[in-house]
Amino acid sequence: MRNARGNLTATLRSAQEPAPEQLERFSEFLARTYQRQVPLVWERDDALRTGFRLQAGSDIYDWTLGGRVRQFQDYLRHIQPGQDDILPLMRQAVEEWEPTILPEEIGYVLTVDSEIATVSGLDHAQYGEILVFASGVKGMVQDLRQGELSCILFGDSEEVSAGSMVRRTLKTAAMPVGEVFLGRVVDPLGVPIDGKGPIRADTYRAIEAQAPGILDRQPVNAPMETGLLAIDSMFPIGRGQRELIIGDRQTGKTAIALDTILNQRDKNVICIYVAIGQKTSSVAQLTENLRRRGAMDYTTVVSAPAGASATLQYIAPYAGCALGEYFMYQGRDVLIVYDDLSKHAIAYRTLSLLLERSPGREAYPGDVFYLHSRLLERSAHLSDELGGGSMTALPIVETQAGDVSAYIPTNIISITDGQIFLEGDLFFSGQRPAVNVGLSVSRVGGDAQTKAVKSAAGAIRLDLAQYREMAVFTQFSSDLDEATRRQLTYGQGLMRLLRQPQYAPLSQHQQVAVLVAALGHVMQDISLERLDAFRTGLLAWLEEQAPDLCQRIDRTGQLPQEDREELLAQSRKFLAQFQADEKQG
Ligand code: ATP
Ligand code: MG
Repeated sequence: MRNARGNLTATLRSAQEPAPEQLERFSEFLARTYQRQVPLVWERDDALRTGFRLQAGSDIYDWTLGGRVRQFQDYLRHIQPGQDDILPLMRQAVEEWEPTILPEEIGYVLTVDSEIATVSGLDHAQYGEILVFASGVKGMVQDLRQGELSCILFGDSEEVSAGSMVRRTLKTAAMPVGEVFLGRVVDPLGVPIDGKGPIRADTYRAIEAQAPGILDRQPVNAPMETGLLAIDSMFPIGRGQRELIIGDRQTGKTAIALDTILNQRDKNVICIYVAIGQKTSSVAQLTENLRRRGAMDYTTVVSAPAGASATLQYIAPYAGCALGEYFMYQGRDVLIVYDDLSKHAIAYRTLSLLLERSPGREAYPGDVFYLHSRLLERSAHLSDELGGGSMTALPIVETQAGDVSAYIPTNIISITDGQIFLEGDLFFSGQRPAVNVGLSVSRVGGDAQTKAVKSAAGAIRLDLAQYREMAVFTQFSSDLDEATRRQLTYGQGLMRLLRQPQYAPLSQHQQVAVLVAALGHVMQDISLERLDAFRTGLLAWLEEQAPDLCQRIDRTGQLPQEDREELLAQSRKFLAQFQADEKQG
């Protein structure tokens, strides 16, 4: 062992006592390897049965049968099975394999508690490296200190005991990835938890990866449609964008993400939903919902539920992101939802406190900003040289009493390209999705919005802003002039049209039609209660009376003047019929 002054000593272990000339040979080997005389002592170890194990400092040289078998197993793991017969490969492997005398670093567990183990002796282990404990439990190195390190445990800490051995793997944590993950529910290590049998992954991707650089990216220029009128018309999201969904609890945050996933059907987008710290039953319900609506065909759910260890909750978004990257670097378009990063930050805070890192603001460790920025930076629209794939991120953050100036919300607001702010008061008044039009923003999606939606949406934000101002202003006055009253009913109508039930995403031409009719004041005289019926009727009418027009808008994403006029004309025709029916009814 290495003592305080750095002197190296060695121990030889075996079941049988070595002959003096054998000891001599080990001493020579040590002198040759370390370029100096290394004092050597022998210890009996009946567990080793055949062969010798030599330990010098924290290096282990394993000449035991068990060690050789493990080496051979490692070697076998690295040969790539082809399509063909495995036997010739096996034969070749057996012929080519040579035992090595590379040192293997071994450490010992100093302490263990619920999620953390400290280990001594692994002088060369690196941050993020995976360690394997004697019982098979794995851990990931988090803190490196002189002579010892701390690692977070992926398995049951009861199976790790102080004094037991730890091996390095020289590998960082990786997520198995592949097409086969679509339709599945897995934990953050890629292990299926949906009871549908094992998954044979194509390959692995490191869960922590460098984000694409500036030259690897291109501007966001294609829409990622949510199917929600309130978002696509005013806060359009583009492929490769990061748009935060933020609001108090139970304000419809998950519902927006879920609808967006449903809306990707037949759009050739891969979806990944990462559930962090949620109830297992909620995740099961959401998955069932996706499955029933045919969305699991292109979706993977990665879940670290509330009952899972803080370690698993901490790595969950990175694991989901690695899976997303696998598809993005193949040139595909990916949508990833992190639901939610508030719980993720809390899991990380728990780990950091256990690791005895000094707590900062709101007891979060100082690097919590970096925690989320290195995750969200990995979303991108890749350059054409890199295949042109994209990963759009919808991180979700829960606020307390609408406070967006708390630590985690301000952090994440500053790393994303905009936020959809959901408001409890709106939600409870029935305005769902409860998007606060004044506080929400999308900074890059405007370029990605199709011309059709952009031109149809026109000045809707401005109209709504005017309406809100006027509503506050006229709150207590009873006698309003005709023009003001019309303005108010128009604004109320717009707000009502932005309401949308769950699981009913609107296609592009449907959004365009509603917007053109509403902003063209076609619905001005319809009572608020009848607006829903009017909208449904109008969309059905167009489908029947002007199918070509509908298809053209969906296909081209354009709205030339004559199409807009046809839409308006059709809307007025439908209005006449609707009003006639109402009179009769
Ligand atoms: P939590 O904070 O618990 O995660 P959340 O903010 O994610 O909640 P959701 O679970 O999405 O909120 O929605 C809360 C409830 O509101 C659910 O029962 C959901 O079905 C309902 N809801 C959400 N959006 C709508 C909508 N547009 N129309 C009708 N009901 C909705
Ligand atoms: Mg939710």
